[in-house]
Amino acid sequence: MSQYFADVIVDITSEKLDRVFQYRIPEALSDKVRIGTRVQIPFGGGNRSVTGYVVSFSESPGFDPEKIKEIAAVPKEGLTVETKLIALAAWIRETYGSTMNQALKTVMPVKVKKKSREKKRFRLLADQEQASLLLEQYNKKNSKARARLLEALMKQGSLEWEAVTKDLKVPSSAWKPMEQQGILRVEGEIRYRNPLEHLDPEMQQGQLPSLDEEQHLVCEGIRAEWKSGNRPVLLQGVTGSGKTFVYIELIQGILEQGKDCIVLIPEIALTWQTVNRFYQRFGEQVTVLHSRMTPAERSDQFERVKKRQVRIVIGPRSALFTPFSNLGLIIVDEEQEHTYQSEVTPRYDARDTAIQRAKLEGAHVLLGSATPSVESSWRCRRGSYARFLLESRYGAAVLPEVTVTDMREELKAGNRSILGRDLHKKIQERLQKKEQVLLFLNRRGHTGFISCRSCGTVIKCPHCDVSLTYHNNGRLICHYCGYTREKTERCPECGSPYIGGFRAGTQQVEQLVQREFPSARVLRMDADSTRGKDGYEKILKAFAAGEADILIGTQMIIKGHDFPDVTLVGVLAADASLFAEDYRASEQTYQLLVQAVGRAGRGVKPGEAVIQTYHPEHSCIQAAIVQDYDAFFEEEIAARELMGYPPVSGMLAVHASCSREEQLDLAMEYIRKFLERIARGGTTRIIGPAPERVAKVQDQYRRVLYVREKNRNRLLRLRSTLEKYIEINPGFNLVQIQFEVISVGAGGISAGNES
Ligand code: ADP
Ligand code: ZN
Ligand code: ZN
Repeated sequence: MSQYFADVIVDITSEKLDRVFQYRIPEALSDKVRIGTRVQIPFGGGNRSVTGYVVSFSESPGFDPEKIKEIAAVPKEGLTVETKLIALAAWIRETYGSTMNQALKTVMPVKVKKKSREKKRFRLLADQEQASLLLEQYNKKNSKARARLLEALMKQGSLEWEAVTKDLKVPSSAWKPMEQQGILRVEGEIRYRNPLEHLDPEMQQGQLPSLDEEQHLVCEGIRAEWKSGNRPVLLQGVTGSGKTFVYIELIQGILEQGKDCIVLIPEIALTWQTVNRFYQRFGEQVTVLHSRMTPAERSDQFERVKKRQVRIVIGPRSALFTPFSNLGLIIVDEEQEHTYQSEVTPRYDARDTAIQRAKLEGAHVLLGSATPSVESSWRCRRGSYARFLLESRYGAAVLPEVTVTDMREELKAGNRSILGRDLHKKIQERLQKKEQVLLFLNRRGHTGFISCRSCGTVIKCPHCDVSLTYHNNGRLICHYCGYTREKTERCPECGSPYIGGFRAGTQQVEQLVQREFPSARVLRMDADSTRGKDGYEKILKAFAAGEADILIGTQMIIKGHDFPDVTLVGVLAADASLFAEDYRASEQTYQLLVQAVGRAGRGVKPGEAVIQTYHPEHSCIQAAIVQDYDAFFEEEIAARELMGYPPVSGMLAVHASCSREEQLDLAMEYIRKFLERIARGGTTRIIGPAPERVAKVQDQYRRVLYVREKNRNRLLRLRSTLEKYIEINPGFNLVQIQFEVISVGAGGISAGNES
């Protein structure tokens, strides 16, 4: 393909990324100009020479070809961080589907114009001898303020503004003349906001905890992999094995090589303990980036990065685009979390994008988890990732003992409470021993499914092996293929009338617990109780400080926290996520159960967990009881293979919304037909369209269609062909369409050559 024109952005530091200018590519430079390349161009009426970046190509001129100027030169220096980020944006656009402009806005740090906070200091210029003479004079003349200031400066060399003006109370009438005489100087120093400065500085010890044998061996192994193949590394460590300390050790090594690190975490609000550990170890070289920061605060962090005052950035997925110019390592902690998938276009996957960024920079990638995603384990299995294991807890701690309560038996025995008898008894015991309890109410997935409380049967789609969801119109529906049926009043298996949805909120659990254990101090953590800026942090800290006996909550209480005094974890409604209408339901349930169980017994006292379920025999619950990841994985990957779900197949979702329902359905029908036509003869399967889980939002109807395809390149090609079809077809003008690459399939992102 001949490409004659390059679209160049001139200003990448502001919000003008969509302002591109077309330039002609001279023959001599045609080999050198790529997406992301820095170019020297004549700009504006006076043709002054400015630097720009190529973001796309076109074959035809956008205006009078005579007037299009030529790129003057491609500067020799190597790749800058900007060129690499632009190349990353191009890859994101290509892989996940979006405009180049959307992709650029995702990766480029937005600069804001703001007043920087200046911190002033007084510095002594006179040498000690001169100063002593002066001091004598001041004392003689009784210039007390000057003498005070000079004396202090002779001791310290320099003093903060406040120390002089407030503490020493030196008026400007005293220091101004001294400044004019060249005895001292007032210096300005820009002070950037440090979002971590409220953390306790006394806790900054700076030492590295010494690693235990297992942790040490894993670090050695990972370093060896980095030196040889440099594949992405998956660190699979049981809960409490000390993954954080392995991260810290590896980061230390990277810093010593003069390179910088990015640590991605699922959500900042739930990760303050981890951030604290990094801050304790690395002090001001660490900062965080997150959405609750003001643009000025964010911009300050980028400045600190640029000046290399900051060497480690911790944050949720967007921290991946921190403009380090010498990136050495990207860590993705709790890599299985769904928050690594962006919900807005481009819907990039931060893990795969991390791997791509690392490739462009020659950096390493480390994914960490106690319960890795099936996708990552699958890639380990196929050899495109290297896997390292931490199989025991740090120190004397052991994994908790897990027991299961069959809730069908509870019903038979006449107990209709949310709390089984075993859990009830165990809570009582802990309260007596003054140990702490976590009660995890599983609300993951949607509680829209229908199940039988007598026999446990769940009503599923006959085609997709996912649960049907109850809709207000009285029907049950499959959110993959659109299959619907009547709701039943009796269980189709055992005829029991105890069939319905599972509904209990954290508030109800709290009331029940208060009623049953009136003396217990109870804390509740959910979306309601955590409103306000530091809602999560406050509750977590209070519980960690022993201000309550029982903490009740949803997913957020089981994510990575380290509460050494918790010796009992109760899992209420383990099944809620098991029957979420999603092919990942078992995976998510296994992960949640292991994480929940993993909160118990992390200190010196051994822990215990009770899982309450209607499906004690389910393989994923069985695997969670013994915390056998490999057993879970074998079972799960076999099921995925059978059903053709990711990661064995790639999967693309086409999300569409429109205020007019008929128009939307028509559009989806066209999309389906188009896909069928272009995919004919291949291994592509098209599923749906079906209503989205939330089928209408703010008067916008919503539909989704899934495409499954084993071949990675074919899947991406289908997406881009469809994208073009939609773009040029005015029939889609009123319909909002978004692509979501749920999985690129077996080959993974780093192995495009496999297909
Ligand atoms: P994970 O993230 O793997 O669940 P953590 O990093 O939270 O585990 O560590 C679990 C516990 O073990 C923490 O209380 C931590 O302080 C302790 N720990 C782990 N490794 C070390 C070490 N090398 N030195 C001192 N304490 C450690
Ligand atoms: Zn039944
Ligand atoms: Zn179905």
